[in-house]
Order: sequence, then structure tokens, then C-alpha cells
Amino acid sequence: MLELNQIGIDYDAPDGVATAVASMSLNLARGEIVCLTGPSGSGKSSVLRAIAGFEPIARGCIRIADEVVSTPEGLVAPECRSVGLVFQDYALFPHLTAVQNIGFGLRKLDADARTRRVTQLLEVVGLQSCARKYPHEMSGGQQQRIALARALAPAPRLLLLDEPFSSLDEMTRLNLVTQVRSILKQSGCTALAVTHDHEEARAFGDRTVAMPNPSRVQPSPDPFPARAAYA
Ligand code: ADP
Ligand code: MG
Repeated sequence: MLELNQIGIDYDAPDGVATAVASMSLNLARGEIVCLTGPSGSGKSSVLRAIAGFEPIARGCIRIADEVVSTPEGLVAPECRSVGLVFQDYALFPHLTAVQNIGFGLRKLDADARTRRVTQLLEVVGLQSCARKYPHEMSGGQQQRIALARALAPAPRLLLLDEPFSSLDEMTRLNLVTQVRSILKQSGCTALAVTHDHEEARAFGDRTVAMPNPSRVQPSPDPFPARAAYA
């Protein structure tokens, strides 16, 4: 379902180019949940953004369902990738209710179909009681389940989760990890989740993958190595 083939991600830096991810390869089978771990700054979020289509890649190739979506030469637009995103900080629209948040990505559906789909997703995450609530009226765990419902509503081929549980307290976190895992398994969604905790990764994923080393930002090799010889 997802294939990263030796991808590399670079950022512009004051002194040239900084390599955030040197080379990374990864394959996810359909319906598989994989957790991605690695120290802060190792490029995990950059990899998710590249898969979603928000970040260009400098090397390699990304395929989703056998379709090439990223190469150094070009990108398929994020909205054409059928990829859902869930972030650490819920990122719900504060001025919209739970129902309106979930329905946000369903504007192409007519009103009836949209209502049916939103109702279905509220059931999936078990929050019918929060339908008319605004984000500030819900707990952190509830908000994160609404964020998950919003991401799942358009039935994405692939779900990307960037530290989705890290801003929750311990009890909520452990409960939610197992709940969200079973929701994803029921929906058959393929998912890649950044998790900073190994125990959480074991509970949530079918397997865990570590960011390759070295992948921290490092200056690219001096393009004029001869200079050093004269320095
Ligand atoms: P992680 O999610 O593993 O903590 P990130 O992907 O956020 O790592 O960042 C990897 C490295 O790339 C970091 O050193 C970060 O400073 C750098 N980086 C991330 N985003 C940008 C950006 N937009 N511009 C420049 N450097 C960036
Ligand atoms: Mg990150």
C-alpha cells in the first residue's frame, strides 16, 4: 500500500543544504499498522509530511497503492493522495462542533450522505454524546477521537498519525491506544504512526520501525572539498 524507496529529504540551511533524512526505505502492506520511532529531530515528521505530499523529496521515490506520488522531479498534490492525517495537538477547528469537524472533508457529498457518514463515524469512535460539542467542551481523549473520526471520514487509503497520543495523560493514552488500534483494524485502514514510546508502539502497531541512522540533520558534504586542503 505504501512504499518508500530510498527517500531523502533536505532542507535549505544558511550554509547550504541540511539533510534531514539521508535515505529511508519502508513497505506497508494493506491494512498494516506500523509504528515509526526515533529520537527527536531524526526526521519522523518530515517523512510523514513527504508521504502526505507537503514536503518534496530530494532522492528516491514514494508509491501509494502502486502509484508514484513523489519523486525529486514532481509531486502528486496532497488532496489527490487519499491520505488522512492526525496530529499530536488534535488540530480540530475550534469554532466548529464535533459533527462539523468530522464533516469538514466531506463537502463533496450531498447533505444526506454527509449526515449518514458523520453519524457512522461518531458511532465508530463512540462519541455520539459529543455530536454538538465544541472542542473546548471535550476532554483531550475525546478531541483526539474526533480528530481520528475526521481523518477517517473520507475513507483514506492511508492514515498518518504524528505522535497522536503524546499530549494525553497516561490513563487516557493507554486506553486510547487500544481503542484506536481496534478502530483502524475494523476499518481496514493502513496506518503509519510516529510514536516516541516503545511500549506504546508495541501496543499500537503490528510492528515497529526505527528511523534509519544517521538521519539527523547534518551539513551535506562540502561541494568544494579541495578548499579544505588550502585552508
Ligand atoms: P522529528 O519529527 O523526528 O522530531 P523532524 O522531521 O521534525 O524530526 O525534523 C528533522 C530535522 O529537520 C530537524 O533537525 C529539523 O530542525 C529539520 N526541519 C524540519 N522541518 C524543517 C523546515 N521546514 N525547514 C528546515 N528544517 C527543518
Ligand atoms: Mg516530529
